[in-house]
Amino acid sequence: MEEMFCYQCEQAAQGTGCTKVGVCGKQPDVAALQDLIVWGLKGMAFWAHKAREKGAVDSGVDVHMIEALFSTVTNVDFSPENLAKVAQKTVQMRDKAKALFEKANGGPFTGEVPEAAGAWKLPAGLGDMVKLGRQHGVKDPSIDPDVKSAQDILLYGCKGMAAYADHAHILGKDDKEIYGFIHKALAAMLDKGLGLMDFVNLSMECGQTNIKCMGLLNAAHIERFQAPTPTPVSIGTKAGKAILVSGHDLKMLEELLKQTEGKGVNIYTHVEMLPAHGYPGLKQYKHLVANFGSAWQDQHKEFQAFPGAIIFNTNCIQRPADQYKDRLYTWGRVQWPGVRHIEGWDFSEVIDKALASPGFEEKPAKEILTGCGHDAVLGLADKVIEAVKSGAIKRFFVIGGCDGALGDIGGIPRLLDVGQCNDAYSAVQIALALAKAFDCEVNDLPLSIVLSWYEQKAVVVLLSLLSLGIKNMKLGPSLPAFITPNVLNFLVENFNLAPIGSVEEDMAQMLGA
Ligand code: SF4
Repeated sequence: MEEMFCYQCEQAAQGTGCTKVGVCGKQPDVAALQDLIVWGLKGMAFWAHKAREKGAVDSGVDVHMIEALFSTVTNVDFSPENLAKVAQKTVQMRDKAKALFEKANGGPFTGEVPEAAGAWKLPAGLGDMVKLGRQHGVKDPSIDPDVKSAQDILLYGCKGMAAYADHAHILGKDDKEIYGFIHKALAAMLDKGLGLMDFVNLSMECGQTNIKCMGLLNAAHIERFQAPTPTPVSIGTKAGKAILVSGHDLKMLEELLKQTEGKGVNIYTHVEMLPAHGYPGLKQYKHLVANFGSAWQDQHKEFQAFPGAIIFNTNCIQRPADQYKDRLYTWGRVQWPGVRHIEGWDFSEVIDKALASPGFEEKPAKEILTGCGHDAVLGLADKVIEAVKSGAIKRFFVIGGCDGALGDIGGIPRLLDVGQCNDAYSAVQIALALAKAFDCEVNDLPLSIVLSWYEQKAVVVLLSLLSLGIKNMKLGPSLPAFITPNVLNFLVENFNLAPIGSVEEDMAQMLGA
């Protein structure tokens, strides 16, 4: 018998799903608790959606939805104790949403209430919670496989959007439309009367709503830190004590920069945090010195070599090695059993750990470029259009990550790092502006999009691009395990979405050779 089942990310074992333990390190109890949370959230959404239809909303219910969904995203929360607390709050918020509806309705609901939205109680012990979660796992043989596939695309899209909405919320930006959509989508998953096209349409709506969400986050970043500008970033080291920050939360980085100012501790970014260097409001701190390390999956090797404290503020944490576990901290939604979690905004413990660690020797190295957001790129619009007309630029490639220095084309960097995954918004803005400049549709531009997906944030970015009608994208390294052959056929027929092939074949096809 399977001990768990999870197939929400690209790492899914055998390309079908993790059944004993997650490739990411997720244990069966954690998988069951996350399933329980998702089931509970669907029940909460049932009432919150109905209350909203009657004009009643509750910010506590709204915010819990995005925080709890974010806790179930890949490589975020591995702590059974913390997930049990999230499950408890989900049940409280379900009751709150139900009361909200009944008040707005002037009485109880008279229709059929799905089991998830019923008055079930959470068992007291962790073991019994896990048992309950197992009864409401990912697999549901009562649903047609293609409908289930479309439902899961929607669910994972909502998880990804919840992560972006949470970052925006932390920066003080909320949008009731985004919360309302997530409630509607999760409530729909309890409606046995809905079919494949209902969930396909909801998935497209999810993509559209996420464009709004990424726009909200983009506005929140710019309002607080100003628009990013192209910025060379050292990949060397500065002599002195050091803290490495991994994740996407720029506000947390800002707080850490404030608290380390004048303390002789240099701050380094890791992977997803690299784009932070492009924001004037962050690069003004002289002790934000460099980017350390490369891809997130190399963290074991790289963290061992980092002679200071390390803190994660969002995904993607991997099972920590003993060599650096005592120097590792989590913050926000991220948790790992046995790793110190910082509650709130006081980072003194992390700073003390950095001060007690050896720190770096001075080692200068080359620089890489970041901060090429849409404001910066559109500032070059005339040059770009001229370069396309003259044939100097033959094709644009949107790719899922970068860290190289590839020179320039007439002063335009050949590789434009537009930012984090949420800055797919910038890539979309650039594509729309180019289409306008050339008086054509985005699909007519000399543009190839290759999406290297990993977790649920990439799912919602894909839905956003599909909802804009963008066709001919390539997806890899492998196709999602939760897409059935029939749903894949639908995506191929309607969007010409294709899996990546060999480099030679793909390049020949994209360059029209
Ligand atoms: S999140 Fe990915 S790697 Fe982890 S258990 Fe699920 S499918 Fe497996």
